[in-house]
Amino acid sequence: MGQVYFTPLSLQDNPEKIKKAIAILFQCTGFLDKIQPQDLIAIKIHFGEEGNQGYIRPQYAAVVAQAIQTKHGKPFFTDTNTLYAGRRSNAVDHLVLAYEHGFTPEVLGSPVIIADGLLGNAEVKVKIAGHHFKEVPIARELAFCNGIVSMNHFKGHLVTHFGGALKNLGMGGSSRAGKLLQHSSLKPRVKEKRCVGCRACLPWCSTQSISIGSDKNKAFINPETCIGCGQCLSICQHNAIAFNWNESSEILQEKMVEHALGVVKGKEAKTTHLTFLTHITAECDCLAKNEPPVMQDIGIIASNDPVAIDQAALDLANQKESGAFGKATGKSHLPVNQLSYAASLGMGSMEYTLKTVQVQV
Ligand code: SF4
Ligand code: SF4
Repeated sequence: MGQVYFTPLSLQDNPEKIKKAIAILFQCTGFLDKIQPQDLIAIKIHFGEEGNQGYIRPQYAAVVAQAIQTKHGKPFFTDTNTLYAGRRSNAVDHLVLAYEHGFTPEVLGSPVIIADGLLGNAEVKVKIAGHHFKEVPIARELAFCNGIVSMNHFKGHLVTHFGGALKNLGMGGSSRAGKLLQHSSLKPRVKEKRCVGCRACLPWCSTQSISIGSDKNKAFINPETCIGCGQCLSICQHNAIAFNWNESSEILQEKMVEHALGVVKGKEAKTTHLTFLTHITAECDCLAKNEPPVMQDIGIIASNDPVAIDQAALDLANQKESGAFGKATGKSHLPVNQLSYAASLGMGSMEYTLKTVQVQV
């Protein structure tokens, strides 16, 4: 049975109370006692999409880094590049956007590193015993670090019903190839109307699968040789590469969980999770627009068990909205099999005890 610690609060509360709550909840997990001097600790967080307000603010994230430093660990903040085009699809734009959102070394007291490199292809293939995969491509710096603190924001999600701890690691901790494996079983195709025949994508295709037709001056992808790496997707500045986002929700959730399994492999005992049930939105934080919250803030929870913490987050959100988180977010039609699947792989327990930790300032 998982142990989950909970502090009820709102983002409208005194910031000092919120910082104190984070420090106490983090301490409750016992993670600090596991840190060895010089340990490289990844704090996996979302730096925020342009225009979206769902991300955890840097001054709150900094509390975790400061605590790690008291144990002489070496924290760094990290996330991976996106599969889709945008300001987080390569490490340079991603870092600039992170800095714009205040995730600077000055505010954080620790460096910011993009875990899967300049173009999302810095990865380590990690062997797992999954139903879909026997190995998964994990962002390199998450594979090589000594421990992980996953700081995630709970919200609804277009395909996975909700996003929490498992999604932060599974989708957010995999390289571009890993994201592709999760999202699409099919190959990319060129949207002819958008392609201007600029040839920018050609040198980036490691399998020489892209050619330009002499008749129409449009790119064409050979599905026989394409390995679905996603490089062309991030290179094309004309949004002319499309994927078939047609995996069923259940299969995508299972694949996502298998990638989370790969991320924590070898450091299961040195991984912990903090989930912010604040500014809860219908859609994920990757949408480049400000979304209004669909319910009142609930608080922050912490646990070493990624399954228990996601189950607790879902339960707290359902209690807040009288059993209607799915209704509030418009996600009632989507299954929630990520938790039972993760439990079946031994990642944690759907059973948990919730201990409320009150914080005063
Ligand atoms: S797919 Fe994009 S990058 Fe490739 S030729 Fe067409 S417009 Fe240029
Ligand atoms: S996904 Fe990768 S292999 Fe396939 S066409 Fe694009 S760059 Fe080439």
